[in-house]
Amino acid sequence: MKKYLSILSLSLLLLACNSATKNKDAARERVVTVTIEPQRFFLEQLAGDAYTINTLVPPGTSPETYEPSPSVMIEMGKSDIYFRVGELGFEKVWSARLEQNNPDVAIVDCSTGIDLMEGDQHSHDHSDHAGRDHAEGALDPHVWSSPVAMSVFTKNMLEALVKADPGNEPLYRSNYEMLSQRINATDSTIRALLQDASTDAFIIFHPALGYFARDYGLHQYSIEFEGKNPSPSQIRKLVDLARKEKINTVFIQRGFDAKNAKVIAEEIDAELFEIDPMTYKWDEELIKIATILSRH
Ligand SMILES: [Zn+2]
Repeated sequence: MKKYLSILSLSLLLLACNSATKNKDAARERVVTVTIEPQRFFLEQLAGDAYTINTLVPPGTSPETYEPSPSVMIEMGKSDIYFRVGELGFEKVWSARLEQNNPDVAIVDCSTGIDLMEGDQHSHDHSDHAGRDHAEGALDPHVWSSPVAMSVFTKNMLEALVKADPGNEPLYRSNYEMLSQRINATDSTIRALLQDASTDAFIIFHPALGYFARDYGLHQYSIEFEGKNPSPSQIRKLVDLARKEKINTVFIQRGFDAKNAKVIAEEIDAELFEIDPMTYKWDEELIKIATILSRH
C-alpha cells in the first residue's frame, strides 16, 4: 500500500511538472516588458499565466545607474507590450528607440491620468547622463510609492492587456478587481498605522517617496541635492531643519550611497533604516515604511 501510494504521488508529481512545463512553453510565446519590479508585482496578478514578464531594471539596481545592454533591446523588441512607468529619464530614450526599431510593440505609459508632481526640491539634473532617471524641471517619476496612484496605474495596465488580448478580457477584469482590493487594503493598513505617528516628516537619501508623502500628509526631505551628494552647507541646512521638525527617521536605499545619511542621522539623533522601494514585494515594503514611521 505504501509503495502504491508513493508511485501514485510520484506520477502525480510528474503530471504536475509536465503541465507546468507546458504552461511555460505556451507563455514563452507571449512576452511583455516592464521597467521595474513593482510593475511586475501588479502585472503578474493581472495577467496570470497569459504572458511572460520581462523586467528591464534588475532587482537591487537603481534606475539612476541602470545602463541597458544591447541584448535587452532585442528582448524588448519581442514583446507584445512595453509598460513604461512613465517619467523615468531612460524610458523616454528607450521608448523612442523601440518605436523606431519595433513599431509593432505597443508602448503604454502607466502613469497616464495620475496627478504628477513637479520634481521641485527633489528635482534632479541628470540630463547629461542617459542612464539617470530625472532631468531638470522634470516630473517626479516615483509614482509607485502611492497606493492611490497605483489604482490608476494598474487600470492603464488592464486596458492595455484587454486591447492586446480581448479573448481574455473577463479574466483580466476579474483579476483587476482582486488586485484593486489588495491595493485598497494596503492603503487602509498604511492609514491606520500612520494615524498616531509621532512625526509627520522624514529624511531620505534619494527622494523616492514623494507620492507616498503626498497621500498620507507627510513631508519628505531628500539628502541628495539635484541628484548629487549635498555640499557641507546643504547638509547643515538639512540638519537645522530636521531639528526644528523633530525628525527621527532617516531612510537609505539599496543601491545608493549611505555615508551622508549616517552622518546626518547621528547629528540629529535619528534612527537609520534601509528600505527598498524597487522591490517586487510592493505592498510589504510600503507597510514596512509606514510601520517605521509610526513607531514611538
Ligand atoms: Zn529616482
